[in-house]
Amino acid sequence: MTRITPQPGIMDIALYQGGGSRLPGVENVIKLSSNENPFGPPPAAAEAVRRAAATLHRYPSSDHAELRAAIGETHGLDPARIICGAGSDEIIAFLCQAYAGPGTEVIHTEHGFAMYRISALAAGATPVEVPERERVVDVDAILAAATDRTRLVFVANPANPTGTMAGAAELARLAENLPDQAILVLDGAYAEYVEGFDGGAALATARDNVVMTRTFSKIYGLGGLRIGWGYGPQDIIDVLNRVRGPFNLSAPALAAAEAAVRDRDWVERCRAENAKWRAWLAEALAELGIPSDTSCANFILARFASPAEAAAADAHLQSRGIIARRVAGYKLPEALRITIGEPEACRRVAEALAEFRKGGQ
Ligand SMILES: *Cc1c(COP(=O)(O)O)cnc(C)c1O
Repeated sequence: MTRITPQPGIMDIALYQGGGSRLPGVENVIKLSSNENPFGPPPAAAEAVRRAAATLHRYPSSDHAELRAAIGETHGLDPARIICGAGSDEIIAFLCQAYAGPGTEVIHTEHGFAMYRISALAAGATPVEVPERERVVDVDAILAAATDRTRLVFVANPANPTGTMAGAAELARLAENLPDQAILVLDGAYAEYVEGFDGGAALATARDNVVMTRTFSKIYGLGGLRIGWGYGPQDIIDVLNRVRGPFNLSAPALAAAEAAVRDRDWVERCRAENAKWRAWLAEALAELGIPSDTSCANFILARFASPAEAAAADAHLQSRGIIARRVAGYKLPEALRITIGEPEACRRVAEALAEFRKGGQ
């Protein structure tokens, strides 16, 4: 018996399992487990970090005005309605801290991103898991689960780890029909991979109950620096700024993100390359009898006949120096999530899975 105990809910948090990055004894490892951009960040972002090294003794900006202005300019959004965080994970945490708590509910979906549940529990709230329909977010199921205790509803679009999307009309219907006290959070971590998609910005502009989150960790290739942002109704952003630490983003991170968000060509090129090789890999796997849903993101979710077969395929990939992601924790034990890497990485995945299919080692 101890008198020192954490708050209720904390011990229900399973530690986050990141994508693996090493295979002991294997050289030339290809890491396809964390949906990182294989081309890295835009060169201007790396250069901004080098320049920032000269003034590391200075505290960073606390209002992020320059980065918010750059984001606003690029996306056509009001900078006053933007908040920046240490990754979009931090924005998710702010939302839970500010709007959820003991006695309230936070809705996420069956295969939804792990941080929604973790942040809800960390805030003392009750996570509520809602079924999806064939790995696609089901708006009717969410509406059926919403109660007068619901404070937040998290939907990633495109979703991770499924890669599927909910339609704009469906999400508008969800926002329209949620209980008055609930906020719909549209997580646009992969929005840049969808040509012409605003990530939910229009809905977050028009409605007083929708917040959009975005990240520099995926197409901008800056996961190591931890930068994300949120956009939504002014009163909600003002609330989130009350719980935000004044120096939550480092000066190198702010400088890198500002340079990155201005490099629209980089995003355009990475999106095109990803789309091309995503289609190539999905087709190559389909020919091997390994299906996947049409992905809108920078990975595909390869489905096998059983959890045992997925585990065996994963082991075979590892023997060939390829690290994919098991997603049993996302209730998809028969699947592997494979990030779209460089062309050579995609070819190696297809070759390794062809060997696996033939039963060869
Ligand atoms: C990768 C990812 C994020 C981004 O997290 P950061 O904290 O910004 O690195 C957010 N949501 C989803 C669904 C993701 O897959």
